[in-house]
Amino acid sequence: MKTVETIAGYREIRSQLYEPIGFVPTMGYLHEGHLSLVKRAREENRTVVVSIFVNPTQFGPDEDLKNYPRDKQRDLYMLESYTDIVFLPSAEEFYTSGYNSWVDIEGITDVLEGARRPGHFRGVATVCTKLFNIVQPTRAYFAQKDAQQLLVIKKMVRELNMPLEIVACPTIREQDGLAMSSRNTYLNQEQRQAAKVLYKALKLSEELYSDGERDANTIRRRMTELIEAEPLAEIDYVSVANAESLQELDKISDKALVSLAVNIGRTRLIDNVVLG
Ligand code: AMP
Repeated sequence: MKTVETIAGYREIRSQLYEPIGFVPTMGYLHEGHLSLVKRAREENRTVVVSIFVNPTQFGPDEDLKNYPRDKQRDLYMLESYTDIVFLPSAEEFYTSGYNSWVDIEGITDVLEGARRPGHFRGVATVCTKLFNIVQPTRAYFAQKDAQQLLVIKKMVRELNMPLEIVACPTIREQDGLAMSSRNTYLNQEQRQAAKVLYKALKLSEELYSDGERDANTIRRRMTELIEAEPLAEIDYVSVANAESLQELDKISDKALVSLAVNIGRTRLIDNVVLG
């Protein structure tokens, strides 16, 4: 495994890499969820490139950029068995002074995470564009955990004719159902127990759906009641939306994305399941 810290350094070795190249962009502080993407990339490609970059432009002014957890040595150790190249660019090189070039995906970024985190998806789309331009992968791997992000990236690649394939991978969970996330480390013991309520609410939506419930308002209401019964949880949103357009539904007839954002103390957690 080789680490590369500059764009020029990567460009120098790019032509020597065997194709296909599988690419996994991350913000580091890796867990089994990230590793599942890396392992999938390993199975499907001759070269595996992982980037670790805490991208400042996708954080809002009141968000956790400064405190975002980082542990480079541990990350490199975890990647060692599956990865050929770890790309660790610097914010200074990615966003030079006077930086002014942005990629904006309209429409599906107006709702859910996009509505609560203005500028977030502009930052995500821009950094992914830069990474794709530099890494030049055959395939890039993203997880359903960040469902709206996955839709945004797929749409961007399709509409801007970017020459790579986006591979969607499932969410990896702890034994009690909590979706793995670098942000879970912010939770104390009591909050960690309370955080189980996200998956419980998503499970409830699956149960209601399999019992034949198709009224989206009923599903939202039942999930909301369940989460509100947890004193440490504060709902940001509970959504039952069309899985492609992300428009809120009245009745479920097609695939629906059930997603939620819940604050546990000062930690904002998101998760989702797809119905149908
Ligand atoms: P991040 O480091 O949070 O930017 O995430 C990098 C990639 O890992 C994204 O495609 C995420 O969706 C994915 N990811 C994050 N959490 C999980 C999880 N629990 N299971 C699978 N993939 C995940």
